[in-house]
Amino acid sequence: MNVYDSERMYELMKPHGYKISQNYEESDLIILNTCHIREKAAEKIYSELGRIAPFKKESNIKGKQLNIVVAGCVAQAEGKEIIRRQPIVDIVVGPQTYHRLPEILNRLSNKQRKIVDTEFPIENKFDELKKNRINKNAVAFLSIQEGCDKFCSFCVVPYTRGAEYSRPVLDIISEAKNLIQQGAKEICLLGQNVNAYHGLYKNRTMSLSELIMEIANLSGVKRIRYMTSHPADMSEDLIAAHGKVDILLPYLHLPVQSGDNNVLEFMNRKYTAESYIKIINRLRNVRKDMAFSSDFIVGFPGETKDAFNNTLNLVKEVNYCQAYSFKYSRRPGTPGSVLKGQVAENIKDERLSKLQSILNEQQLNFNSKFIGKSFDVLLERIGKKDNQLVGKSPYMQAVHVKTKNYKIGDTVKIHILRADKNSLEGKCI
Ligand code: SAH
Ligand code: SF4
Repeated sequence: MNVYDSERMYELMKPHGYKISQNYEESDLIILNTCHIREKAAEKIYSELGRIAPFKKESNIKGKQLNIVVAGCVAQAEGKEIIRRQPIVDIVVGPQTYHRLPEILNRLSNKQRKIVDTEFPIENKFDELKKNRINKNAVAFLSIQEGCDKFCSFCVVPYTRGAEYSRPVLDIISEAKNLIQQGAKEICLLGQNVNAYHGLYKNRTMSLSELIMEIANLSGVKRIRYMTSHPADMSEDLIAAHGKVDILLPYLHLPVQSGDNNVLEFMNRKYTAESYIKIINRLRNVRKDMAFSSDFIVGFPGETKDAFNNTLNLVKEVNYCQAYSFKYSRRPGTPGSVLKGQVAENIKDERLSKLQSILNEQQLNFNSKFIGKSFDVLLERIGKKDNQLVGKSPYMQAVHVKTKNYKIGDTVKIHILRADKNSLEGKCI
């Protein structure tokens, strides 16, 4: 979603004469769009600001104005504390106020050198953003839902992104059409909790499955996917859509976090390991080649050795194609940070490496299964080698191919020759 928001910020600034620069030296404006989800992500911003500081100093000496903006969820959570810790920052805007950036930059003057705007606004950000997107990529991100009311006890999102909000259907359809006109072949529908989507359509609300069917009917769209979904919101109609809509990819990111029911309860996740497995099986029933990825947190307070083993058992049962796994990071202000039974760092390390070794093995096995087989690949970017293009399989694997006959945006049948954990290599057939 930060990628989407960054694209939106560029679209806001372009009419004011800004263009994307390749380095800090030649920039008049630097925007750091930040993530607050784990401590490590949040701390990164201060080291980056440290790297930027000499450029600010030099521009001051030259009498040039280099404006530095911190946006995103760290901005929302820390507000003016950011300017206190790093006075080179001029502007702090949150995920719900960045649409005001051009106006805020206008307001900066010799008298007012610092502006913090992180109050959740009355106006709707999406109504204020440009209607025409600037996006020439084969894969386009489209935010349809933002914020979250789930309040998982480890997570900052409900506090930084705010309450759950679904964009109206017709706004989304018009943005999708605009992206397709510019060459998008795959639409990735985004939301912190995307399958809780319930957007206004005429005088009723539409679910995510209905929205997917509307988008599937637009001419020119070749692939649809969505992320990130919460297991408790995997409704029957959404599961059924995977069996009905051909261009909905047979891949789903469905974070489980833990395979232990006690830990899931401490996390306030609102499902059990058994109900999660049931969803996976139902999806495999409607589309037998469904592949799943997930997020995991190890070392959440109260996670015993047995509880961790339950996570390993769940992983073995589901057999993931890919996954992200993290050590629990205590986030100030979240209920998890003050729970009893915090797990020692060395135990977290041990558990993470055990979990990752199984997940890595599953990922390699998943990829290796495709050697000697063929599937459609959507070409997305230029590779590092001569005449090489890189695309994605229907299961979100990166696929490398050497070809002079195709270009980015083409869907090509590729025969897979080699596989490793992170990518596949093949030839056009
Ligand atoms: N809405 C999604 C997740 C969004 S956050 C869901 O409900 O699954 C992305 C991922 O970051 C989470 O799935 C979780 O695995 C991880 N994460 C969030 N807070 C964390 C924390 N405090 N410590 C470690 N990992 C965390
Ligand atoms: Fe965070 Fe996802 Fe839970 Fe919402 S559902 S609180 S975004 S982990």
